[in-house]
Amino acid sequence: MSKNKVGFPSPDFDDLRVCDGCTRAIESDSNAVLYFCDTVWIEMERFDLPEVTPQEMYCLDCYPNEIPVPHLGTNEGFSLISMREEEDGSYTYDEIRILKGSSKNQGVEWSVLDVIREYHMTRLEDFPYTVTPMYGYILFRRSGIDLSGFISEGELKIPSEEKDKILDLIQVYVDRGHSRSYTPDAL
Ligand SMILES: [Zn+2]
Repeated sequence: MSKNKVGFPSPDFDDLRVCDGCTRAIESDSNAVLYFCDTVWIEMERFDLPEVTPQEMYCLDCYPNEIPVPHLGTNEGFSLISMREEEDGSYTYDEIRILKGSSKNQGVEWSVLDVIREYHMTRLEDFPYTVTPMYGYILFRRSGIDLSGFISEGELKIPSEEKDKILDLIQVYVDRGHSRSYTPDAL
């Protein structure tokens, strides 16, 4: 995977200033991890982007060391970056190195939309953000569910006997006042 194909968030794109795991602000002059990929879903439509594009940002505490459920059919990965806020309020980025990558020929067969629909019962139209494979993983992680534990024989298979447990955990999360759909302050 070519480093110079990854690209950076645009300087005036505000959404990538907080960690998408814990929602803490990423401070100027600090390092962070960008998740990039070339497959996204917007509403119900899959879009295959012409190149891998930064989608989410994580602080070093929330960086999971590997792509937890790499998606077969998606080029995706993490890169370590440093971010600096300039005097005019814009941001500049330096890529330090690619940390992990998974090409579209690698990974696990899973339908990001199906697991969200089945367990979160959220209308995809209601998501305020683009859905990525990592996003699907994080959505479950917020309720304490690690989808990577359900990988078996190259597929993400959630056993039917686990379904009620997962739905209960998501319900606890919702009962604590969090929405079923993702918002950055809903942690
Ligand atoms: Zn974080």
